[in-house]
Amino acid sequence: MPDRTTTPTPPSTPPATGGPTAPVVPAWADVDLDAVAANAALLRERAGGAALMAVVKAEGYGHGAVPAALAALEGGATWLGVAHLDEALALRAAGITAPVLAWVLVPGQDTTAAVAAGVDVSASAPWAVDALAGAARRTGRTARVHLKVDTGLSRGGATAHDWPDLVRAAAAAQAEGAVEVVGVWSHLASADDPAADALTHRQADRLEEALAVAAGLGVRPPLRHLANSAGVLAHPRTRLDLVRAGIAVYGVTPSPVRGSAADLGLVPAMALRARLSLVKEVGPGEGVSYGHQHVTAARTRLALVPLGYGDGVPRHASGTGPVLVGGRRHPVAGRVCMDQVVLDLGDDAAARAVRAGDVVELFGTGADGGPTAQDWADAAGTIGYEVVTRLGARVPRRYSGAVARRHGLDVAGSAAAQVLP
Ligand SMILES: *Cc1c(COP(=O)(O)O)cnc(C)c1O
Repeated sequence: MPDRTTTPTPPSTPPATGGPTAPVVPAWADVDLDAVAANAALLRERAGGAALMAVVKAEGYGHGAVPAALAALEGGATWLGVAHLDEALALRAAGITAPVLAWVLVPGQDTTAAVAAGVDVSASAPWAVDALAGAARRTGRTARVHLKVDTGLSRGGATAHDWPDLVRAAAAAQAEGAVEVVGVWSHLASADDPAADALTHRQADRLEEALAVAAGLGVRPPLRHLANSAGVLAHPRTRLDLVRAGIAVYGVTPSPVRGSAADLGLVPAMALRARLSLVKEVGPGEGVSYGHQHVTAARTRLALVPLGYGDGVPRHASGTGPVLVGGRRHPVAGRVCMDQVVLDLGDDAAARAVRAGDVVELFGTGADGGPTAQDWADAAGTIGYEVVTRLGARVPRRYSGAVARRHGLDVAGSAAAQVLP
C-alpha cells in the first residue's frame, strides 16, 4: 500500500533541467553537474591543505566520466582517478589535461599509450615498474609511477615484506630516467565505520613506516595519499598531500552511519526518472509481476514504470524499492523485471489523478521528499555506490547546470552528449 508520509508534489512534467528541447524518452537520469562541482568544492575545503583527486572510474560512478571530471575540476579538484588505463585515455581523448592516476594493471598489458599520454600509473609489484619503464623507453617519455603499499586492505599494494623490492625496482628505473616516482600510496579498508577507527590509524601508521623504508632506499616522492571519501570526511590524519574522493563527489554518503548526504553537506547529483507507460484499474486479488509476489488487496490503480534490472534497478529491491509518484512514495509492487516495474497506487483521489506519461522519480536529491540512492541501497541490501554505478547504458544521462552549459553538455547544447556510449 502507498506510504503517505511524504511531502510536496514532484514535477509531473519533466524538470526544468531537461528543457523544452529534451526529447520524450521512457526513462533518463538527470545529472546536475553544478552539484558535482559544489561537492568537489566542499571536499577540497575538508581536505585542508591536501589536493583533491576526483575519482571518475566506472563512468564517473554512473554519472558519465568526462562530464563528472569537467565538473569536479571546476569545483577545485586538480587530479582525476580511474581504475583502468582505457578510462584514463578516454579522459585524455576528451581533451582533459589534468593529472590522472590509473590503478588497475595486469602483466602483459600494453602501457605504451598511457605513458605517451602522461597518465600516472600505480605499481604494486616490480613487474609493473618494469612494464612502465619499458613503455618509457619506447615512447621517450618518463613514466609517472605511484608505488602502492598494502597497509591492511589486502587488495592492491605490496605487503610490508615485498615493499623494499618494489621500492628498489622503482629506484633503479628512476636512476635510469625511465620512471619518476610521483607518489607512495595506499587504500583504506574501513574509514566509513566508526567502530574501525583503530584500523584506520593502523593503516596510517603502516603508510608512514613504508615511507620511511622508501626514504631509506633513496625514494622520496612528492605525494603521499591514503584517504577515500570517508577518510577525507572523518579522518584528518589520512589527508596527507592528496585525497582520492569518489562517491562523495557525486553527493552520495560514503558512510550512512556517519551521516546522510544532507548531514554531510553533499548534494546528490543524479536523479533517476521515468514516465509512466501505462496506468490501469484492476480488481482485488490480482497477482502482480512475475511470481505474483504482490497481490492487490482491493480495487486499485497499477502504474507501469519503464525501468528494470536491465537498467541497473536492483532486483533485490523487489517489493521494497521506493518510487515517488505525485508526491507520495510507493514501494515497487512485486518483482523488479528486466525493463519494467509495477506500482500499486491504491484507489483514492490522488491515485486516480495519476496518468500515463506522468514523471516519477526513483531517486534524486531527497529535497523534494523523494527517495535517495541510499534509500534504494537500503531497500536492496547494498550500498549507494552500487545503485548509481550500475545504472545501465540504456538510460540516457541529461546534464544540467551552469557547468553543463559551459561545456555544451546540457540538452540544448548537445543532444548527443546526453547518451553514454
Ligand atoms: C574507488 C576508489 C577510491 C574512491 O573511493 P570512495 O569511497 O568512492 O571515495 C579511492 N581510491 C581507490 C584506490 C579506489 O579504488
